[in-house]
Amino acid sequence: MTSGRLGSDTTNLDPWHDSYAARTAGLSASEVRALFAVASRPEVASLAGGMPFVSALPPELVSGAIDRVMREQGPVALQYGSGQGVPKLREQILDVMALEGIRANADDVVVTTGSQHALELIAKLFLDPGDVVLAEGPSYVTALVVFKSFQAAIDHVPMDEHGLIPSALREHIARLRAAGRRMKFLYTVPTFNNPAGLTLSAQRRVEVLEIARENGILVIEDNPYGLLYFEDQPPQAMRSLDSDGVIYLGTFSKTLAPGFRVGWVLAPTAIKDKLVLANEAAVLSPSNFSQLVISEYLASADWRGQIDTFRGLYRERRDAMLSALEEYLPGCEWTVPAGGFYVWLTLPEGLDSRAMLPRAIEQLVAYTPGTAFYSDGDGAANMRLSFCYPTPEFIREGVRRLSIVVDAELALRDAHANLA
Ligand code: PMP
Repeated sequence: MTSGRLGSDTTNLDPWHDSYAARTAGLSASEVRALFAVASRPEVASLAGGMPFVSALPPELVSGAIDRVMREQGPVALQYGSGQGVPKLREQILDVMALEGIRANADDVVVTTGSQHALELIAKLFLDPGDVVLAEGPSYVTALVVFKSFQAAIDHVPMDEHGLIPSALREHIARLRAAGRRMKFLYTVPTFNNPAGLTLSAQRRVEVLEIARENGILVIEDNPYGLLYFEDQPPQAMRSLDSDGVIYLGTFSKTLAPGFRVGWVLAPTAIKDKLVLANEAAVLSPSNFSQLVISEYLASADWRGQIDTFRGLYRERRDAMLSALEEYLPGCEWTVPAGGFYVWLTLPEGLDSRAMLPRAIEQLVAYTPGTAFYSDGDGAANMRLSFCYPTPEFIREGVRRLSIVVDAELALRDAHANLA
């Protein structure tokens, strides 16, 4: 084997290149990751990453919880734990999920090392090489990386302003079935989607679940952003409508802090049993320390009030981004997210977000090209703009810088057209 594994950039440099497993072919550095190094320079207005603004979490809330855990349960916190997760935390997770209409049993919850790890475990349980994963177009980049690392193919189903389009889902399933392809699951981020900021309507949730059920396809509902709404509460989680056909993924990364690396899966019982075994095989047990600190935080702090604080902060940043877009980029189109972290921008005809990124970095602004969120090269006309981390002033400045780049690209495009 001479090419393609772990990305072509390492091909000639890595003496072990020929030793890697075939499944690593999909493991090239994602565009988001390659960007982080540049975008994290302080002079760059980064609208690229998806880092929660953890500085809005009062540190004493966390240090108080850590102190109490160490005083009262130190040896337990420092020990290996259960492969399924700390029982008390699993009970408390039920309270978090109840806010989105989910009623469940703590026995069916498995704590994972962030929901990213849950994606890995689910892929490991279900995906054989050549299987098809249905996913929104666009879809969360690092989920796509996981599915590809299990040699699955991704089939992107389009969205409109109400989220995934059920008739398109039906068509895609029929076409894949006619071609003899095996579909294992639909991966969806139905609420304040990463990267498009769109939300699946209540009516469509019912329809999508029906289609999945009719076709024997599991639904993986990945929901890190559902509690971060800016106006009305979004429709209830899909899992609240179907407890047999949905595997639900939650996380404390956006409502508390990602540094704990604690997420969870709520799965039908038989799948849950397999997930626990897969979790043990991968990490023995998720971090007892992190779980006990979060459990203590949930028991002692006003965690609902803290989520309100995050909501207000992100709403202000979303508003700053939308008003800057209106002022500086009137020739573009964008989604208006009612929660979460992201706006999805569509450039004027003929502009390519990936090609223009180096020019944007020169202007000290960064974004994520839309192509990162498709596995088929689509998305060149789009970019993801995150408003979660920079201050409102820096968001505004970032959009202003972006408009300089877009105007220059438009001038170039028009000059080419005149020459032709
Ligand atoms: N799913 C989605 C849609 C995400 O946006 C993220 C984080 N960016 C994750 C999963 C992973 O989150 P974590 O592992 O921190 O829980």
